[in-house]
Amino acid sequence: MPTPRVRFAPSPTGYLHVGGARTALFNWLYARQTGGTFVLRIEDTDKERSTDAHTQVILDGMTWLGLDWDEGPLFQGAYADRHRADAERLLAEGKAYKDYLTAEELERWREHAKANGTAFRYDRRLMGLPAEEVARREAAGAPYAIRFAMPDEEISWIDAVHGRISWQGRDLDDLIILRSDGSAIYNLAVVSDDIAMEITHVIRGDDHVSNTPKQIALYRALGHEPPVFAHVPMILGTDGKKLSKRHGATAVGDYQDQGILPDAMRNFLALLGWSPGNDDEIVTLDEMIRRFSLEAIQSKAAVFDPAKLEWMNGQYLSMMPAAELRAPVVRQLERLGASWGDRDLDPIIDAVKARARTVTMVAEQVAIRLPGAEIPLDVKGEALIAKMGERFAPCLAIARDAVAAVPEAEWTAEALEAAMRDAATREELKLGDVMQPVRVALTGGTVSEPVNELLVVVGREESLRRMG
Ligand code: GLU
Repeated sequence: MPTPRVRFAPSPTGYLHVGGARTALFNWLYARQTGGTFVLRIEDTDKERSTDAHTQVILDGMTWLGLDWDEGPLFQGAYADRHRADAERLLAEGKAYKDYLTAEELERWREHAKANGTAFRYDRRLMGLPAEEVARREAAGAPYAIRFAMPDEEISWIDAVHGRISWQGRDLDDLIILRSDGSAIYNLAVVSDDIAMEITHVIRGDDHVSNTPKQIALYRALGHEPPVFAHVPMILGTDGKKLSKRHGATAVGDYQDQGILPDAMRNFLALLGWSPGNDDEIVTLDEMIRRFSLEAIQSKAAVFDPAKLEWMNGQYLSMMPAAELRAPVVRQLERLGASWGDRDLDPIIDAVKARARTVTMVAEQVAIRLPGAEIPLDVKGEALIAKMGERFAPCLAIARDAVAAVPEAEWTAEALEAAMRDAATREELKLGDVMQPVRVALTGGTVSEPVNELLVVVGREESLRRMG
């Protein structure tokens, strides 16, 4: 078998959708596993909707996810001459024909079908113009499209995901392959490019299944064996409906902005339709590459559960060293307008990352621990103050006096723990009554790293100031 060559072929008509990113990832994994080549082809033939800005967003999204391509980006628009030549070759070989029907004439057929309550389907026997009319239009130099004469035979393939899929050529339209303005339509352009780029495996979304028999017919007509096809399942929202903006963010860039880590996003996307063969949810990149296979992709639809993505992101946050999180955290801190002078952020990141689910949450918690930060009370902080009532202020004062007795040079987690324990014993208070008010004073809430560690992270001067 030749070394695999796969491609991701997005149309730059919008942002990088999570479904597209998952398709890119599966292609990339397959290439990396097999030592094959991953080609990036930008399908920019829809001139009206394609923009350079969209192309850039797609490239940025892939780079963020670590999906490096080996060839490209190649732009489909650059191959218009080849597309046209392929269409003309099919015409010359009698596998395609000139279609002189005008848009109005076609429209009339469409209306005719509608009036008869049937689905519109182009049929060359029914709609073809009489020979003399064709000759007349040809002599007059009338514009024509080139239509592919769909062979009347069975067209089937063994899909790597779905198994055998079969169509009858007579159920398929004679599709236009070249418009009268000389531009190729998608099905021809894609086949022409995949042949020229020697693509061996086409891994793409399920929504293309109905294009595949047409493309296979074109491959054969052009004298090439079709590649292996693997159609990956569609992605649904948790309500079982096709994933759309109604379900929340569907752009990869939005998840980046929300503080999802690329490693977590990649892991999450990989499990949308693929499984490593066991119940493992956290799959390292190396493992993913090693265990990936087209056969292990499920044929049933995958469900995009944002709560699971957040959970997974939390797992990655816990595992990743602070030094690796610093850059994304700094980006979010800048967005929050925080300033940290020459403070070493790593210990603060280390203190908070295990309790966060997004980089944004890490940054918010880091910001709260920086000198001079605003500390808004959260609902849990308010609830604690309400519950302790009149005891809150004296308990906080006891804690403050206890830690204030620890000098700067001895301001360590151990010394602070001992100081608070001693105070609780001496005052006959539960340890929580001493520590929880400190948490509220320092963070505005009741959930944080252990209080003694929190005091170290915030620092002596700032902690005492916050405790009033
Ligand atoms: N450009 C097509 C799309 O974005 C993909 C074509 C293909 O993968 O065959 O849907």
